Amino acid sequence: MKILVTGGAGFVGSACLRYLVRQGADPIAYDNLSLGHRAAVPADRLVVGDIQDTPRLVALMRERRFDAVMHFAAATYVGESVTNPDHHYRNNIAGTLSLLTAMREAGIERMLFSSTCATYGLNPKMPMSEESEQVPCSPYARTKLAVEWMIRDFAEAYGLGFTLLRYFNAAGADADGSHGEDHEPETHLIPLVLRVAAGDMKSLAVFGTDYPTTDGTCIRDYVHTEDLASAHWLAIQATTPTTREVFNIGTGNGNSVMEVITACEKVTGRKVPLVISPRRPGDAPALVADPKKLKSRLGWKPRFPEIEQVVETAWRWHQAHPQGYADRPAKRTVAAR
Ligand code: UDP
Repeated sequence: MKILVTGGAGFVGSACLRYLVRQGADPIAYDNLSLGHRAAVPADRLVVGDIQDTPRLVALMRERRFDAVMHFAAATYVGESVTNPDHHYRNNIAGTLSLLTAMREAGIERMLFSSTCATYGLNPKMPMSEESEQVPCSPYARTKLAVEWMIRDFAEAYGLGFTLLRYFNAAGADADGSHGEDHEPETHLIPLVLRVAAGDMKSLAVFGTDYPTTDGTCIRDYVHTEDLASAHWLAIQATTPTTREVFNIGTGNGNSVMEVITACEKVTGRKVPLVISPRRPGDAPALVADPKKLKSRLGWKPRFPEIEQVVETAWRWHQAHPQGYADRPAKRTVAAR
């Protein structure tokens, strides 16, 4: 199967691309490298380009005759979406419009879209099924929800088979430590805790201890990128030109910020100094998936269901690559969000 993977040099996109190659599929990453890393994909599988460049996409699609598109390319920093919504609306909404236009022109009839549990936002019902009400609480989440509707409307009007995949918190690294998470700036919990454990940072800011949760810190469902990737592979095989589907991808296990820190301390054998800090704008108190549908319909089974397993792989990556892919000039600044 020939698959165009937009954002295929990013953290999740590249993990999926590498997984697809292992399954015998023929994926090509299309990435503008603004967030992605050249070293995350084999050189012969990377085309550098922007999804807003419709003619370029049409030409590539015609040349390579893709069977399907997996659409990962997006602006993803929640905090930045609050301060610079233009960037998010342009990349995520205008970018997807350009991609869908190109797909129509080139006659590609199947796609997967990387949506997010953040579209459920402040919904207090836990765990979240695909039918849970979507109440996005950040511009980022609103762009993802808008794109879900854009895809549904295009499918209705022009014909398109799609599966929307709502990820919970993507985490971990390739089991052999060869590829992993490298954001610049880094905002995600697990890599930041590991930086503190490694001595690269003095302490970890815990954003809020007054949430209505068991220990007062936010609860998330951390799903390993390889398990995300296997869900994509199952989903694309089940997507036909008439499919209209949506699946959550999460383990169903919620872990609080404090539990993640404890897991990191156990895996690394090091103490992580904490600084209790105010809540971070845009954070929902708890986001935990109900993965029943993904398991029963597609036969998905996570290989890394426990937080310690996820952290172990991330720690292996961090130890082997303390500077990440080392392809950006100003490394290791930490974003406030
Ligand atoms: N978090 C934290 N300190 C940090 C980074 C994150 O306390 O330095 C918390 C954050 O508030 C959230 C959880 O960890 O409750 C997961 O955040 P992350 O950015 O990893 O993922 P998100 O849920 O925002 O997609």
